[in-house]
Amino acid sequence: MTDYQDNGTTLQVRGAVKRYGAVHALAGIDLDVAAGRFLVLLGPSGSGKSTLIRTLAGVERLDEGEVRLGDQVVGDGRRHVAPEKRDLAMVFQDYALWPHLTVLGNVGYALRRRRLRGPEAARRCEEVLDRVGLGALAGRYPHELSGGEQQRVALARAVVARPGLLLFDEPLSNLDADLRERLRVEIATLTRETGATAVYITHDQSEAFALADVIGVLDHGTLVQLDRPEAVYARPATPFVARFTGLAGELPGRVVAADGGDVIVQVGDRRLRSRTAGVLATGDVVSVTVRPAATTILLAGATAPHGSVSGTVTDVAYRGRGYDHVVTGPVGALSAVFDQHARPRGSAVEVAVDPDGCVAYPTGERVEKVRYSEDITAVSIAS
Ligand code: ADP
Repeated sequence: MTDYQDNGTTLQVRGAVKRYGAVHALAGIDLDVAAGRFLVLLGPSGSGKSTLIRTLAGVERLDEGEVRLGDQVVGDGRRHVAPEKRDLAMVFQDYALWPHLTVLGNVGYALRRRRLRGPEAARRCEEVLDRVGLGALAGRYPHELSGGEQQRVALARAVVARPGLLLFDEPLSNLDADLRERLRVEIATLTRETGATAVYITHDQSEAFALADVIGVLDHGTLVQLDRPEAVYARPATPFVARFTGLAGELPGRVVAADGGDVIVQVGDRRLRSRTAGVLATGDVVSVTVRPAATTILLAGATAPHGSVSGTVTDVAYRGRGYDHVVTGPVGALSAVFDQHARPRGSAVEVAVDPDGCVAYPTGERVEKVRYSEDITAVSIAS
């Protein structure tokens, strides 16, 4: 399917607003997706994911703003290009296959809609069905297929006409865990083979990180971060993004020194080094968000180069490669603290915290009016 390359269209959204009564489902969204990129829109239920993807598809009209596919404005306050006239295809959570058409009929329908018939259409259908492993099931009807097979048909139907944009509306939500993972890989590879631009919505952060070239995080109809997965993970723009993309916990503390881009934070009777999401000063009260991967249980007598917190193991869960611990300390708990060996419940442990997985956010309070010195050595962190 190498002839599919360079198929992707650019997508541009400007000032997109959609209201339902008093609710701003989209509160003014700006978004650019380059041709051939795979964008995952991640957010909790009600954050506006479906509304946004439906406005891209054209089944929903914007109240304000503009959607542009390639160099064509497909929707703004006045213009509205119908879904079937847009160069895109959508894969739905509930598959949305035609029940009265066979597998071949369903896939072929996408080509008939684009007035492609005859041997070329047959060749393309056969090729794409083989590609998704359904060549032998072309004559079956949807009710004769498993959920995973139905979603493969929907995937084949979406890509067969080689649209410039593929939209995915939580396509794995109805599938079992092992099947989800296999189909996720198929979606990732097939979409990239076709060269199409993709927009995929999900509330599942692991799915988002696994699939995306770019992640857009939605919170109450606002796009709060748009970045590479690595950047979203390392530097979440807001505490909401940090929480929604997986935390071991949040530790309350106070900045005792600023050092380059980092801060040293007093957390209970311990000090931790942390990255920041903005400018912080000595005395700022902060919450330090901690990724699970930033935590390590220290061996007895060992020290951590950038700080640690103490606590008691309050839960242990076997995870195959090792154990996840919940460690509860005087100022808060950290969960998913991994160790190859199980530490018994009730045991006292010291958890090293790596600044690479920590971001300190201001909570808006200050406890003392102390400016930090440019000369870090002048700010004692030993007391
Ligand atoms: P998500 O897909 O992230 O779960 P939605 O886009 O479905 O979020 O919804 C965003 C907000 O808009 C929610 O508050 C939801 O209740 C509201 N909403 C969505 N569709 C409608 C509708 N047809 N009528 C009224 N409110 C709606």
